[in-house]
Order: sequence, then C-alpha cells, then structure tokens
Amino acid sequence: MINFKMSELIYSEIANKNNISNVPDINSLDNLLNLIVYCLQPIRNLINKPMIITSGFRSKKLNQFVGGIYNSQHLLGCAADFKVLNMSTKDVVKIILNSNIEFDQLINEYDSWVHISFLKNKNRKQFLHKK
Ligand SMILES: [Zn+2]
Repeated sequence: MINFKMSELIYSEIANKNNISNVPDINSLDNLLNLIVYCLQPIRNLINKPMIITSGFRSKKLNQFVGGIYNSQHLLGCAADFKVLNMSTKDVVKIILNSNIEFDQLINEYDSWVHISFLKNKNRKQFLHKK
C-alpha cells in the first residue's frame, strides 16, 4: 500500500514563505513517483515510524535559495531528505543499508537528516556520511 502523498515531496514551506514557485514538470513527477514507489514507501513500511520529508523536489529557484548544489538530484525529483521521529539518523541509515531497498545515493547528512536518491536502472548504491 502506498500512503505517501506527492505533496509531501513538492510542498515547501520555504518556497511558500518566499513566494518561490515549486512546480515539477512531467519528468520530475515521474522521478518522484519512482522515488516513492521504490525507495521512500519501502523505507516507511520497514521503519514503521513517522517519517517527515524535509525537502523533496526543488525548482531551480528554490534550490538556489536553499544553497543546494547546481546539479542536485532534488532538481529532477530524484532525491528527498527526511527525518524519522524518535530515531537517530545513524540508525535509520543502518536499517536501509541492511535492507534490499534500491537507491542511488544514501547520505547521512551531519547526523541530522537522511538524503536518499533513486535513479531507475542507474542506481549506484553509494553510501556517504557527511560530517
Ligand atoms: Zn538532499
């Protein structure tokens, strides 16, 4: 069952507050759907705790505004950042690494949030820990 909503990956409080448009094109929507189906929903099912997306799709403007890198996978709807309530980033990452969930990049970002991306048929299964 999929209980993820596309809005979880598109809505941005920062974009809203700053009047920045954040509307994905059809290709980004397709990528977001793959990210949900193959990555985020399996993680949510596995962890079974409240999982909060802090950043999903980013328009070019929004990405610049939040200081994202120019070729960020968030621009294409291929990446999401999230936190799990009452669970350390380290533990979340450990669970994902011990599962068979597909991903391109899994990043423990400063022990504060998880970045995960999915590229259909091009997943590198690369894990990084930014400190
Ligand atoms: Zn990210």
